[in-house]
Amino acid sequence: MPEIKVLPEDVVSKIAAGEVIERPASVLKELIENSLDAGAGRVDIEIQKAGRGLIRVHDDGRGMDREDLRLALGRHATSKLNVFDDLYSLATFGFRGEALYSVFAVSRLKLTSFKPGADSGYSIEGEGGRVIAELPAAPVKGTTIEAADLFFNTPARAKFMKSDAAERSHLIKTVEEAALANAGVSFRLVIDGAEILNLPALPGGLWENLKNRAAAIFGKSVYAGLARVEGKTPGMAVYGLVSRPDALGATRANQHYFVNRRPVSSALLRQALYRGYGHMLTGRHPACAVFVELDPGAFDANIHPQKRDVKFSSENEIFKTVSNTVYEELLSKQTASVAMAAPEAGRQFTAPDVPAYREAAAPPAPAAETGSLFGAAPQLSPASAAEQPDWRARDLAYLGQLAKSYLLFEADGGLLVVDQHAAQERVLFEKYLDEFSKGAVKVQPLLVPLEAELSRSQMETVLKWRDWMKSAGFEIDQRGPAVALLRAAPALFYFSQPAFAEFLGYLSEVLGEPERAAEDIKRNVIATMACKKSIKAHDFVKPQEALRLMDDLRKTKDSYHCPHGRPTLFHLSGGDIARRFQRGTAA
Ligand code: ADP
Ligand code: MG
Repeated sequence: MPEIKVLPEDVVSKIAAGEVIERPASVLKELIENSLDAGAGRVDIEIQKAGRGLIRVHDDGRGMDREDLRLALGRHATSKLNVFDDLYSLATFGFRGEALYSVFAVSRLKLTSFKPGADSGYSIEGEGGRVIAELPAAPVKGTTIEAADLFFNTPARAKFMKSDAAERSHLIKTVEEAALANAGVSFRLVIDGAEILNLPALPGGLWENLKNRAAAIFGKSVYAGLARVEGKTPGMAVYGLVSRPDALGATRANQHYFVNRRPVSSALLRQALYRGYGHMLTGRHPACAVFVELDPGAFDANIHPQKRDVKFSSENEIFKTVSNTVYEELLSKQTASVAMAAPEAGRQFTAPDVPAYREAAAPPAPAAETGSLFGAAPQLSPASAAEQPDWRARDLAYLGQLAKSYLLFEADGGLLVVDQHAAQERVLFEKYLDEFSKGAVKVQPLLVPLEAELSRSQMETVLKWRDWMKSAGFEIDQRGPAVALLRAAPALFYFSQPAFAEFLGYLSEVLGEPERAAEDIKRNVIATMACKKSIKAHDFVKPQEALRLMDDLRKTKDSYHCPHGRPTLFHLSGGDIARRFQRGTAA
């Protein structure tokens, strides 16, 4: 008996479908894309039972005749070859003729369409990939596609569905993204009889349209906090709306990224955006609609079956352009960039710490060697050398500690105030990266392993990263489906139980796919986070310890900022102090 068997067609089609159609929102995304590709000016969507009952998309696009309808359901059937001049750009947009075929394999599907010039409309219906009926239909312009009873024949897949609420929010996000990227098209979304979105087609220019759509989609308060960003480098343009630093949110719920106006989820774009904010994020999250325009040859949307993830040919360039654009627009040109439509949205940053950041702001440097959260990105430079005390060269006299947080030194005739945690983080960060780059991370086994409870998806990510984490000095094991154990860690760090859980949870969110991120970015991320979460000595007040910290800090590449970009120290010169006492500078 031969052991190799050829799989029957229906099994093959279900496997293929499983890759393309992960959840109801993936069906909806494909159907909306097809409507847009067909030149629709209107897309009406009806959903029942979180998409498991029915997903119905009606458009007024160019339609299909009888022959088209039959072909559309076949594998690798696509009419889009003649729209593009070359196969490569076709492929990069993800036109693989697999979507309808895949949806058909796992649902009860009905296509109804009319193509101007045909003798009548037609409909074709079937289930699980088998055509059951073909009938004439009314000559109504456009196409209606109804996918009912999704996953009716793949119960295992059905079981993986999240809650109705979670699926609904994916469905809504799918429509929102299509609407943000296609303002000239009207969208209406009805879920279980209730109208969720009703967005008329907009006639205006790009920015006016984008703002209008954003206002409708983000809601008033998030919208009011958005600023316009725009930047260009050769071969690439970035534009969009992002939260002002004083209007950040608690979650990443309102983030939308697009490449050539197709929605994507790209860890690289997200990290670039976050990097653009640098130290202004403070653990919070911007809302955004970020559009990247690239030559079709510069990315590939096909690496992911659902075409959501993209591979860029020049990741560094894209990272830099996005982060620099955001950074420059938010900081350097903040007056211009916050002047958005609504009057209340035009107000300036009011956060008290912003003026300090503005003073510290300098043109982004391309280098990645300093402690930026996400590697190659703009860095804040310290104020010019002339304003800096000469604390590196001269002797410091330790005066004492303030509020268990700040170390005070006499330096250069003035007062040097050091944020002890920020300074420690900077020192740890560079020590760790130095060990890492030499392949010599000193590892300390833990007598009692630390536990972290994770979500299943986080756990999956952590497992993917396990080998790499080991090279970074973290030995991680799994216990049960969703508990991670830390058995050994770099000797430089100490974690509390909750801090370790936060550390892993955070990493599993930001790191994405192990093989995709550049090594130095991964290292920077892990080093930054580990330094942040590691327990630091709280009240070391002994002069030798304080002075040793300053010795260590002196040797770092960026003594003036912690790895997150916060300042480590400031200096009050003798003159400053004298002025306070109205003694005049000569004193
Ligand atoms: P792809 O979009 O990759 O070409 P699909 O399986 O999504 O493959 O669709 C197959 C073909 O069916 C499309 O190329 C298009 O010709 C046709 N089609 C699908 N949906 C529509 C629609 N709403 N209006 C007109 N034609 C459509
Ligand atoms: Mg398609």
